Amino acid sequence: MRDATKSVHHPSVDDSGYAALGIPTHRASTIVFPDAQSYAARGQRDLDSYSYGLHGTPTQRVLEAQLASLENGKRAVVLPSGQAAVTVVLLSVLMPGDHVLVPDTAYPPVLGFCRNFLEPRGIEWSIYMPGVGAAIQELVRDNTKLIWMESPGSTTMEIEDVPAIANVARAKGILTGIDNTWATPLLFKPLDHGVDFSMQALTKYPGGHSDVLMGSVAVNDLALRKRLRDTMRMIGFGVCPDSVQLVLRGLETMAVRLAHVGKVATEVASELAERGLGEVLYPALPTSQGHDIWKRDFSGSSGLFSVVLPKELEPCLDIALNALRYFSIGASWGGTRSLIAPMSIKATRQTHHPRNERTILRISIGLEDPADLREDLADFFATLSNEAVARTA
Ligand SMILES: *Cc1c(COP(=O)(O)O)cnc(C)c1O
Repeated sequence: MRDATKSVHHPSVDDSGYAALGIPTHRASTIVFPDAQSYAARGQRDLDSYSYGLHGTPTQRVLEAQLASLENGKRAVVLPSGQAAVTVVLLSVLMPGDHVLVPDTAYPPVLGFCRNFLEPRGIEWSIYMPGVGAAIQELVRDNTKLIWMESPGSTTMEIEDVPAIANVARAKGILTGIDNTWATPLLFKPLDHGVDFSMQALTKYPGGHSDVLMGSVAVNDLALRKRLRDTMRMIGFGVCPDSVQLVLRGLETMAVRLAHVGKVATEVASELAERGLGEVLYPALPTSQGHDIWKRDFSGSSGLFSVVLPKELEPCLDIALNALRYFSIGASWGGTRSLIAPMSIKATRQTHHPRNERTILRISIGLEDPADLREDLADFFATLSNEAVARTA
């Protein structure tokens, strides 16, 4: 073997006795085959094996298996983002002429996908109100193929009666899917409640450090897994093994992080509610819509809640936001850093509610010392009220 050849043909080394706790990062586009026959038969390889880097490496298979196990599912697929995970479910189920039901409170880019991508391609969609439960039956059409759910709903945090909706769908042969990003499968397991597709944005709590984008969908039906994988292959969706590695690392601490942020968020949200600083929307509070269903179906709460800002405090919002010391201003939650995002939902909601007209603060509790966070929030609301008083004086 000459030098140039030696340079590209790696020597094999003995790895016996090498037992490490970390998962190796396998980067690959090309997969090679031991002989001509297995190359010719590569199309028959099953979906758990390897044919091309785009369709998965052993690093990715570890994450998929770990997610499937956490979800009580048979298989999981991973996608380049949470949004990609939702759209691949919709594209795998819906054909022109079909109809999908989505909640009014869906993650806004999902509504955008329905309006601007599905609708021009002849796929019908309509919205339902959060908390609809078994009454979804009346909204089902002859051509309804999928009911999409999100619980709690984006920004306004309503809990859905997932088992009731799944029962109606099952009886009519309609598939169901849910965006379970807020709870993660640690706090709610949709597949156990009869849902067909359990989706989450791994970008949030599983990644956990605001530095990776990924989504996943778990299923119990291998035929549905095949439909997802077929769609992904045709679109060309794959994930980077380095990102997979970040999610694998994040998962190891997720249970501890969630328990902490859930506890702090419950305390802080209750304090804000008691002080009457605006309507607090958080499923763990008895005053929040769907609290009883949350208690029945969920094993805990995560660190994201919302506060509807009283109208008289709105004019001073920018001043108060700019004075925050520990909370950052930003949207993509679930990381180690606490965030506040002022949200306006008016443009995305079809059904009228008085709070659609208001600014809603979406607060994500991170891993800072809770005393610092309380101080920051106390100063924040003091600035809002003092400035408001000064303005009216
Ligand atoms: C962030 C988020 C998504 C989208 O995830 P990306 O990885 O940012 O595309 C979907 N649903 C919910 C509820 C989210 O919070």
